This record gives sequence, structure tokens and C-alpha cells, in this order.
Amino acid sequence: TAVRTALALDGVVAGYGQDPALHGVDLVVPEGAIVAVVGANGAGKSTLLRTISGLLPTSAGDIRQDGLSLAGVPVEERIRRGIVHVPERRQVIPELTVEENLRLGALWRRDPAERAADTAEVYEFFPALAERRHRAGSTLSGGERQMLAIGRAFMAHPKVMLLDEPSLGLAPKVVADIMSMLAWLRAEFSITVLLVEQNVRTALSIADTGVVLNLGRVVATRPAAELEADEQLRHLYLGF
Ligand code: ATP
Repeated sequence: TAVRTALALDGVVAGYGQDPALHGVDLVVPEGAIVAVVGANGAGKSTLLRTISGLLPTSAGDIRQDGLSLAGVPVEERIRRGIVHVPERRQVIPELTVEENLRLGALWRRDPAERAADTAEVYEFFPALAERRHRAGSTLSGGERQMLAIGRAFMAHPKVMLLDEPSLGLAPKVVADIMSMLAWLRAEFSITVLLVEQNVRTALSIADTGVVLNLGRVVATRPAAELEADEQLRHLYLGF
């Protein structure tokens, strides 16, 4: 049976003012896949995620989710349809407790039993968050904040999770924990993952497919292992 497409971008142009940062991006994210988008600083990786989540409008091209165009669909409605963005810098609310931060991810969901069950899932996977559930977000380490940011996104019942540099500035052990969480979200809940990373090896180690973005264009789409083994591509676009 054919794999369904979770997200499809077709000639997407988007950016800031007169100056597009994406110059016609084509991208297919299969349902249940982990797709890593890699590329140098300024390649347009964050812009790509902002455009998919609806924070930035497209000036040309189209984004489809499960075959339906997202043109004109506002951010909140995209979240309800299961597209949830975990932005750079782990934006947890410092004044709120861990538990309150988690609850924010599920504000629009009505069923308290379901919310409690989801919270328990997050705590089970990240016991450090369970221990700190009544502490303020401001007291967490960088790694714990990242776990909380992903946990909060999970609370929204995403179909597709968009992650912007979750490994940035974290110790290798913590990065490994975060990556296993993403693998678990896919395995256990069939969540499709679109992961943007500068940490290329880390991202490719859990991804099925690697996409190289350069100056706002997709220059390669390959099975992750193949991409990692391609010296020429690595030298040209990834700097290692
Ligand atoms: P980084 O890892 O540095 O965030 P990136 O691949 O995510 O890189 P983007 O942040 O998407 O790249 O940036 C793509 C281009 O858009 C760059 O030329 C950048 O300078 C520009 N850009 C990013 N954010 C803005 C903004 N808020 N206003 C104007 N230009 C921006």
C-alpha cells in the first residue's frame, strides 16, 4: 500500500518583506516519517518551519496537509489540524510551573481524562519533568526546557511536529534523550516529524530522509544514511 503524504510543499516562496528566504521549495513529508532538514546558517530552515506553521505567509506556491491546501488557514487552525511547531530557543513560560506549561499545549482540548493521560505519558518518558512538575519553568536547565517544549507540543495531539534546532547548545547525553523522544513519538503515536538541525549527524541518525536546503532551495533529498555518506554533498553544503 502506498504511503500517504502528510505534508507537501510545491514551489513555496516566502520570507521577509521584499526579500524571499525560500525561493520555490518543493518538499514531500510522508506520513509517519522523520525528515531532517539540514543546511548552513541562513539557508532558510527556520523560515521553512514558520511558513508551514503559518507564522509567515507564502507569496507563491502551495502547502498541502493530507492533500488539502493550507492557503489562508491561520496558525491556530493549523494547530487544530495537527501541525504543531516547536520553535527555536525552547520558549517555555518561565513564571508558570512545568505542569502549567504542559497544560498550555492542550488548552483547546476539552477532555480532562485525555489531558491527564497525555501528561502522564510525558512524565513517564521524562522523569526529570515529573520530579519538577510544580517548579517554575525558569528553574529548568536547557535540556529540561527542551523536553518541556516538546512535551507541550505533544499535549496538542500533533499529527506533524515541526522542530527547530532542538539540540542547540545541549550536552550530547541530553541530545540523545531528545532524539529518542522523537523516535518514540513516531513509533508510539505515529507522529510525523520534520526536524531542522545544524547538528547534521545527530539529525540524520534518527531520520529516514535528509533534505539539504541551501540559499532557500532544496538541493538534495536522500535517504538519511546515504546523505551522511555523500562526501561531496557534505563538503558543498554541510561543511564537514
Ligand atoms: P539559522 O540556523 O541561522 O536560523 P536558517 O537556515 O534557519 O538559519 P533562516 O533563519 O530561515 O535560516 O533565515 C533565512 C534568511 O532569512 C536569512 O538570510 C536571514 O537573514 C533571513 N531572515 C531570517 N529571519 C528574518 C527576519 N525576521 N527578518 C528579515 N530577514 C530574516
